[in-house]
Amino acid sequence: GKRSSLPMSQQRKELPVFKMRSTLMESVSSNQFIVIVGETGSGKTTQITQYLNDEGYSRKGMIGCTQPRRVAAISVATRVAEEFGCKVGDEVGYNVRFDDRTSRRTQIKYMTDGMLQREALLDPLMSKYSVIMLDEAHERTVATDILFALLKEAAKVRPELKIIITSATLDSEKFSKYFNGCPVINIPGKTFPVEVMYAQSPQMDYIAATLECVMDIHINNNAGDILVFLTGQEEIDSCCEILYERVKMLGDAIGELLILPIYSALPSEVQSKIFEPTPEGTRKVVFATNIAETSITIDGIYYVVDPGFSKVNTYNPRAGMEQLIVSPISKAQANQRKGRAGRTGPGKCYRLYIESAFYNEMLPNTIPEIQRQNLSNTILMLKAMGINDLLNFDFMDPPPRNLLLSALSELYNLEALDTDGYLTKLGQRMSQFPMDPTLSKVMLSSVTNECSEEISTIIAMLSVQNVFFRPRDRQQEADRQKSKFHHPYGDHLTLLNVYTQWDNAGGGQQFCEINFLHGRHLKRARDVKKQICSIINQLNLPIVSSRGDVDIIRKTLVAGFFMNAAKREASVGYKTIVGNTIVGIHPSSSLYGKEYEYVIYNSLVLTSREFMSQVTSIEPDWLLEFAPHYYKAVDTNSKSRKKMKIT
Ligand code: ADP
Ligand code: MG
Repeated sequence: GKRSSLPMSQQRKELPVFKMRSTLMESVSSNQFIVIVGETGSGKTTQITQYLNDEGYSRKGMIGCTQPRRVAAISVATRVAEEFGCKVGDEVGYNVRFDDRTSRRTQIKYMTDGMLQREALLDPLMSKYSVIMLDEAHERTVATDILFALLKEAAKVRPELKIIITSATLDSEKFSKYFNGCPVINIPGKTFPVEVMYAQSPQMDYIAATLECVMDIHINNNAGDILVFLTGQEEIDSCCEILYERVKMLGDAIGELLILPIYSALPSEVQSKIFEPTPEGTRKVVFATNIAETSITIDGIYYVVDPGFSKVNTYNPRAGMEQLIVSPISKAQANQRKGRAGRTGPGKCYRLYIESAFYNEMLPNTIPEIQRQNLSNTILMLKAMGINDLLNFDFMDPPPRNLLLSALSELYNLEALDTDGYLTKLGQRMSQFPMDPTLSKVMLSSVTNECSEEISTIIAMLSVQNVFFRPRDRQQEADRQKSKFHHPYGDHLTLLNVYTQWDNAGGGQQFCEINFLHGRHLKRARDVKKQICSIINQLNLPIVSSRGDVDIIRKTLVAGFFMNAAKREASVGYKTIVGNTIVGIHPSSSLYGKEYEYVIYNSLVLTSREFMSQVTSIEPDWLLEFAPHYYKAVDTNSKSRKKMKIT
């Protein structure tokens, strides 16, 4: 992009938000709530916090800015620190789960919405902040939706607290209405027309169609970078690899193509590459998840390729499980994606679906997460804040009753709530851990069962990216090395093996290279473990080792995962005990191809069929031992299960 070669202070002045600076600051000063709407890339996230700082707001408390995505929080904080002229963690910092880069000096703090929601547990009035900007509010994550209500309450008690809601799209009226009819400020953006092209017929294989489209643009179209929207890491990595091979085959006849991925799990050094200006004579193609729809802006994009899908986390309350499902995007998302091509000049958007699908099949807007996700974690936190009356909670869009009910009954089954729906002592302790209630239950049971040392490792390993490295050209070798870590009882103990051996070997990179492991992810697991242990310490609980007693570790897993149990049936493979869903053991599991009668699993993944991932074999008696209230009812008649009140 041209702008990138200007000095940073000049770049800042050219952003559309700069012209609105005084309007914005006046409006903040005379209103408690304001809604700001502006095109992606207009400077909302990086500039407004700095304007507020210049106005002196940080003298009365920090300026907080939430992001739905971890990557965005880190990337934006890094950029703003650079503009501000400090190191990340000094005046400008960020806080995301298990990674806090703030200090006493921090004045501008970027964080995930989930982290601010956690802070509300200890400090519902948000007394550390003078201004809170709920950024990317149109994404409607569960945490942002909950913060809407929590901040509205805090604002009643603290008239000096300022709340800014920013959004990229058209939800502004709805937001304004919810926040007592507050003003809406539009940031006029500079956008260019984008020509839209549709597929002539429905595409059977959107990956193949995507690659073809990118090649076609590269060979037959004028200069300009390409942005492609895919659904996830694996898809992105494999597209990058395939495209790389194809481009190599073209030889020197065609200009160079720089292929870059962007998704949450990438290390930040790699991520920052996408912001570097493309060298002369080269074209850049960025394969991105929907993170590039609004939360990060890449300059110089002229072509957008939109296959029309994204991965959506969806909870199926009947089956009691959450799944990432590749689903068609909404019209609003499609238009947002298209807009990415019109920032630097007139652009083109290739929609790899037919025109009538856009007009007749896509939903106008994405369904808010709160209406489709597992809410057990959220409800536990609200209960821990003393919010018991969920039916009268000020939801912008209330969750469907069955989602509320299933979260309440999950928490009840985990003994986090009593029959009246009030938080138990255990539930109170569970709420202290930034993780799913199933995992926090396992963590706390491990203290009683004297294996918290091992369980904290296992949970840390479950929280990080897959540690096994499996390069395409050396898969067999990698699998052979991996099998050396396999524990006969399953994946949880396999993960424990990997971590322990790595740690005993000094936690170095050489061990990782020999054994096909991602050192970066293992190091992160070590950080996560440290933080889990510090929460246990804060609760005055001990970290104890089972000293080689493997059964107690497996029993402890059952104490949390009893709802994720499956039984082998000769003809069909495995069937979940509750829900009777037919499931298989994922090929990556150390139990793959083995025949244990009962297993528990960490999660279900849906690919060609339903697979259990992270599986451990168990004894059926343990289900009754650790969840008699649950399994007795299941065995007899599910209607006889104690009814929970929804309060
Ligand atoms: P908005 O929040 O309105 O979408 P941002 O404040 O995120 O806009 O970005 C404004 C501009 O700052 C972008 O157009 C881009 O040019 C630049 N920018 C943002 N983040 C980075 C980064 N990490 N590296 C380089 N430039 C960036
Ligand atoms: Mg932004």
